[in-house]
Amino acid sequence: MKSRSLEEAVFWAVFYQREALRATLASHLGVSLPSITRAVHRLLRWGLLQEAGATLSVRGRRPGLLRVNPHVGLFLGLEIDRHRVASAVTDFSGAPLGFSSAPCHARSSVQSTLIACKQTAGRALELAGVPLERVVRIGVGHTGTLDWATGRCLAWDGSPQWRDVPLRDLIRNAFGGKEVTLDDRARALALAQHLSLPASSGHSSTLYVHIGSGIGAAIFLDGTLMRGATQGAGEIGHLVIDPHGPQCRCGNRGCVEAFASTEAVLERVRGKIRAGASPLLLRLCAWRPETLTLALVLAAAKQQDPVALEALHEAAAALGMGIANAVQILNPSRVVLCGRFAYLAREYLFEPVCREIRRLCLPTLSRELEIRLGHYRPDMGPCGCALLAAEHVASELLRRYADAAVGANRLPCFHSERNPLSVLEPDRRSRLA
Ligand SMILES: [Zn+2]
Repeated sequence: MKSRSLEEAVFWAVFYQREALRATLASHLGVSLPSITRAVHRLLRWGLLQEAGATLSVRGRRPGLLRVNPHVGLFLGLEIDRHRVASAVTDFSGAPLGFSSAPCHARSSVQSTLIACKQTAGRALELAGVPLERVVRIGVGHTGTLDWATGRCLAWDGSPQWRDVPLRDLIRNAFGGKEVTLDDRARALALAQHLSLPASSGHSSTLYVHIGSGIGAAIFLDGTLMRGATQGAGEIGHLVIDPHGPQCRCGNRGCVEAFASTEAVLERVRGKIRAGASPLLLRLCAWRPETLTLALVLAAAKQQDPVALEALHEAAAALGMGIANAVQILNPSRVVLCGRFAYLAREYLFEPVCREIRRLCLPTLSRELEIRLGHYRPDMGPCGCALLAAEHVASELLRRYADAAVGANRLPCFHSERNPLSVLEPDRRSRLA
């Protein structure tokens, strides 16, 4: 693995913690305060970090909190989910500036998905007051099976429309040749969650579990977002917990997702309604089980409907088992349950999932484990996608500054440039102007 420079280590620590003091960085990275001060000085000169203001202590004023410089550039995030497409414009720190979403049965047609991406992105840019030309890079989060090397979607829930689709190129062409970062949607959501939680929580290893129409996880281990050998880390939804269980869309039987995704729960409840097991739910969905929604299942659960309660109980048990397996392997200090299903059904899922994790994990792994519910905001997905693009640009800038510093055997004098992006190649500069 390529070793990181101290500047890179400092930058990523601030990026993922949102803000940090020099002394905290020194202790976190295990280097002296003067070394941290020199690295921070370079990052401030390069325009990648900024001081968030001096703080007062008993000894007087001291250098303030460090944050990433939000003005490095603007980013567009596109989240492509099974039932909606959402877009957001953010600055370099991930702060949302404009957001728009639209329902879209994305699996049915690649073309209709691209149209929804263009429409929602247009609205988000308009709300942010930003022309597309000022966007530095686009981040796309998708829930299908992706080939990161080629930027292709290899498969998506068995849809023939989405077999081997050059998604990254299609998005690039649809947005005037803008560079695109394509990544897993769960990872985008985790990044947005991570940056929305308190910076001082002291957790460097967190497992984010996204529970919605699909189930995925993203893993921060020792402060770094893990991707795995083929970028596939975190497929917690396809851990098999019952080889004789229901069919999963991945082709196996008894995956966590086959019990606990929104779609799996709705499908199981529909079967029971058709078998006459719940007169209440039959009435709530107006005698048309195919129109059943999560809101109706939750309304029935509130009235103690046994079919609704049993389905939610089974989902919680499956989630608890899957997450416990992941905790045993990864030993995080925190698990965050996120996503629309986790949030809307929190009254029925959260406590049972916690109990199951604590029942199944070794005490040494669960004793100090914090389990919490994540934030839920409709713009979190696309904001996370924009952050993935910002991550990519940050890596590129750090590499270029480091190369320039080594090449000149001295600090590069980029401080005269107004924007750090000006160190990128001239053709990109002209596109950003
Ligand atoms: Zn599966």
